[in-house]
Amino acid sequence: MEVEDLIIIGSGPSGYTAALYASRESLNPLMISGFSKGGQLMLTTEVENYPGFPDGIMGPDLMELMRKQAEKFGTRFIDDNVSSVDFTKRPFVVKVGDKTFFAKSVIVSTGASSNWMGIESEKKYIGKGVSSCATCDAFFFKNKDVMVVGGGDSAMEEALFLTKFAKSVTIVHRRDTFRASKIMQDKVMANPKIKIIWNTVIEEVMGSVKVERVRLAENDGKKAEVLIDGIFVAIGHSPNTAFLGGQLKLDAKGYVITRDEVKTDIDGVFAAGDVVDHVYRQAITAAGSGAKAAMEARSYLDQVKLV
Ligand code: NAP
Repeated sequence: MEVEDLIIIGSGPSGYTAALYASRESLNPLMISGFSKGGQLMLTTEVENYPGFPDGIMGPDLMELMRKQAEKFGTRFIDDNVSSVDFTKRPFVVKVGDKTFFAKSVIVSTGASSNWMGIESEKKYIGKGVSSCATCDAFFFKNKDVMVVGGGDSAMEEALFLTKFAKSVTIVHRRDTFRASKIMQDKVMANPKIKIIWNTVIEEVMGSVKVERVRLAENDGKKAEVLIDGIFVAIGHSPNTAFLGGQLKLDAKGYVITRDEVKTDIDGVFAAGDVVDHVYRQAITAAGSGAKAAMEARSYLDQVKLV
C-alpha cells in the first residue's frame, strides 16, 4: 500500500500555498484539486489587493501562477473531486471516485461556494438566465437588462463587471444599506448604468424557457413584476464540507472548527482558507493559512516520526 506523507484537498490560494510550502519542505504532497481547480478566484476578474501586483492581476492568472510555483517544487495534482474521506483510520483514507489514496496527514482547503436565494423557481433557471458568476456569463447578456442580488462586495463587483456588457444593471438588495466596502459602493453609485432597488427581494423568477421576468416583493409587502433578461445572485458563500461526512467538528454554518488556527480536532488533519474562515475570506488570508497548515503538517509528521 502506497502511503502519501501529505494529501491536500482543494486548490484555492490556501491549497496552492500549502502545496508550495509542503513541497519546499520535501513532503512531496499530492493535491486533489477538484474539478473546478483554482477555487473562487477562477470566477473573479481583476484582483487589486493581492500584494506584489501593483497593477492588479486577473484571478485565474494568479491561480495559474500559484499552481505553477507549487508544481515547480514537486507537487503532484489530480484534477478531480474527493468523494469521501475516512479519518477514523490511520493512514487516513481519501477516496476519489473508485480510486483510494492513503495519507499520514491531510490538509482540507476546499473553500466555499456561492449561495443561492433558495426559491424554487430560481433552480429551474440556473444556466437559463440565473447565474452566480458574472465573469463566466456576462458575455451572454450583451445589451440586455440584468439584475444583481446582494449588498456585499461580490454584488458590487458583479454589477460593475456587468455594466461592460449589459444595457442596464439593477441591484436588488433586501435592506436599505450595503455592507460592501466604501470604495466599491462609491464605484457603483458613480456608474450611470446601475440602478438600485432597496428593501426588496426576488420572490419568483418567471419565463417560458429562460428568464423573462421576476416578481419583486418589497419589505412592506408591495409586489411588482419586472421584465428582466438575467439574474446574478451574489449573496455570499457556504463552506464545501459535505464530503467530510461529519468527521471533523464543524460550526453551525458548516465551517471547520480549528484550534491554533489550522489544527482540526483530529491530529494530523489540518484545515485552511475559506473552509475555516468566514470572516476575512481574502486570497491573501487564505494563502497565509495555507502556509501555516503546511508548516503544522511538517511539524506533526516530524513529531510522530512519520516522515
Ligand atoms: P457578504 O459580504 O456576506 O454579502 C452577502 C450579501 O448578500 C449581503 O448584502 C446580504 O444581505 C445578502 N444576502 C444574503 N442572503 C441573502 C438572501 N437569501 N437574499 C437576499 N440577499 C441576501 O458576501 P460577499 O459579497 O460574497 O463577500 C464575502 C467576502 O469577500 C467579504 O469579506 C468581502 O469583503 C470579500 N470580497 C471582497 C472583494 C473585493 O475586495 N474586491 C470582492 C468580493 C468579495 P445583508 O447585507 O442584509 O446581510
